[in-house]
Amino acid sequence: MRISDISVFPVWAGYRNICLVRVATDDGIVGWGESGLSGRELAVAGMIDHFRPFLIGKDARHIGALWQEMYRGQYFEGGRTITAAMSAIDIALWDIAGKAHGVPVHQLLGGKQRDHIPCFITSTAEHGDALVADMVALKEQGWDCIRATVGDAAGPTTYDPRRAIAIAAAALEAARAALGSEICLGIDFHHRLQVAEAASFCHRMPPGTIDFLEEPIRQQSPGAYSALRQMCDIPFAIGEEFASKWDFAPYIEGKLTNFARIDICNVGGFTEAMKIAAMAETHYIDVMPHDPLGPVCTAATIQFCAAIPNLSWCEVDPYGVDTSVYDRMFPKRPQLETTRFAVPDAPGLGIEVDEDAVRAAKFEFWEPPRRYKPDGSYTNW
Ligand SMILES: [Mg+2]
Repeated sequence: MRISDISVFPVWAGYRNICLVRVATDDGIVGWGESGLSGRELAVAGMIDHFRPFLIGKDARHIGALWQEMYRGQYFEGGRTITAAMSAIDIALWDIAGKAHGVPVHQLLGGKQRDHIPCFITSTAEHGDALVADMVALKEQGWDCIRATVGDAAGPTTYDPRRAIAIAAAALEAARAALGSEICLGIDFHHRLQVAEAASFCHRMPPGTIDFLEEPIRQQSPGAYSALRQMCDIPFAIGEEFASKWDFAPYIEGKLTNFARIDICNVGGFTEAMKIAAMAETHYIDVMPHDPLGPVCTAATIQFCAAIPNLSWCEVDPYGVDTSVYDRMFPKRPQLETTRFAVPDAPGLGIEVDEDAVRAAKFEFWEPPRRYKPDGSYTNW
């Protein structure tokens, strides 16, 4: 079963680009993967162009060996762009393996460990009364894990950290009072804070107000997170930007991430994600997968979630955006069942792709919103 063709499709999907990869084999099996380097998809397409010549003709069943060759096949090994491209190919190769054996991917990863995949929901409401009302409505819909985010998804370009901290803290305290104690409540700061700012936010949170704090600061420095840990006892959810097990290692071994936010489309596909889940398992850390991309990402994440013992909740998209284009590209794709995904039984990833619809779609240049502090200096989106 030799790889006969690799195609990459960075295509506009209604509100953002998604980057799909199609791998074909000489016995007629086609697998699909998705890359997660959102906003820089053409770089991934270029990396796929570099991979294609040495992957064509290789045995598609040697997934682990191909992972090593893609990661270490140049002097400057690894890195976020490389692993984003690798992720898509790795996912496609697992899709092919499942189809070749007539089983879902989770069967090849040890079989399913749960009956369904529990998910968490994100409230994008503005922090304040709107957030509390939205979270109460989400609880009434059945959600038992609800996350706030920065509260200004479509709002101003100015981000005042101290003002944001005060407003978020008050809103979350009110939300906890309204939701009761059983709901898992968290907030994602999109790595906009400095250590001192994140500590100040934590100090405004009475014990038990929130159950996890996601990415209060940027992720490059385990030492910075270690400093924050000494000032804060709220569990951290970290890892969606990590591009390998080595990125995760200091956060797991250093007891810094309490929910491992593995992104299967960035970290290196199934091959790498399964290893990181096992690393987390050794420290009794649950995986909370990052899943904000397209249906191939979601399908792969579901297969991954099914096969690991240490899962908390899987993220779900959309964030109130129009995803009708997915209905054209993917006649069969994962569908949320209230607050959970079923574990699929179909071979491979369990999706169907309308190749004509994918090939007809075009790339569109898109930039994330920019954010500036009140003094005009730059901060993260
Ligand atoms: Mg996040």
